[in-house]
Formats: sequence, C-alpha cells, structure tokens
Amino acid sequence: MMQGKFDELLEKHSLKKTAPRFRVLEVLSNRNVATSQPNLENILGKEVDRVTLYRILKTFEEKGIIHKIIDSNGTANYAVCHSSCTEHQHRDEHLHFNCTVCKNVYCLNDVHIPNVILPGGFEASTINLIATGICPGCKAASE
Ligand SMILES: [Zn+2]
Ligand SMILES: [Zn+2]
Repeated sequence: MMQGKFDELLEKHSLKKTAPRFRVLEVLSNRNVATSQPNLENILGKEVDRVTLYRILKTFEEKGIIHKIIDSNGTANYAVCHSSCTEHQHRDEHLHFNCTVCKNVYCLNDVHIPNVILPGGFEASTINLIATGICPGCKAASE
C-alpha cells in the first residue's frame, strides 16, 4: 500500500491523519504475515510510544482496518483487513495459520470460514478459526 492509499483509508474511516497511524499502517501492510504487538513495538521503537500504539491498534480494530489474531502462545497479532471490512463487521473471516516452527501467523485469505450453525440463542459477532502446524517455508527447510 502506498501513502495515497493510507490517506484514503484514514479518510474513509474519518480518522485524523497522524504520523504514527501512517507508520503502523505501513509496517502492517508491508509484511506478508501478521505482526505481533511486541514485534510492532520493536519495529517502531521510539517513533511511536506504547500507549499511542495501543490506542491506534484499538481504533483500527474497531474501524475494521485491521484484525487481531491470538496465536497459540496467547500473543496478539495484527494484520490489515480486506477493504470489504467495515466498522464492527469483519466480513473477510478467513482461516489463520500459526506455524509452530517460525511462529508466524498467516492470513489465509482464500480459505473462508464455513457458515457455522449455532444453537438457538447464541449470536456470534466474530468467529476465529486458527490452524497450527508447519508452513511451506519451514517444511521446505526441514526437508
Ligand atoms: Zn514456518
Ligand atoms: Zn487474517
């Protein structure tokens, strides 16, 4: 994603264009795997302080700009959503894959979560599905 795209995205969600917001979007969209919060803190260093980062992630998540994936260690990871997501309506529910070797969390955007039928009275707002195992890169390295 380019700067213009970020402009558009923040405008669309009526968010003020601030340097830290741009930086977070830039980092998240430049990676092909989800980024953990500690990792984000490392990458951003002193550019964005912890409290600001926390607020940005929370806002982006609420707006449907990014989504959170809790990996098998209980760590929060973040990835940019598809443009089809809107506020409180994460439409691109897809399978996540947590590699047990490299620990990376992948968004498998093309693998949609099947329609889950819940018993009467239960109303899901989001459904998370995470697969664990070995990713192609780690598999190739082990052969
Ligand atoms: Zn791996
Ligand atoms: Zn994802």
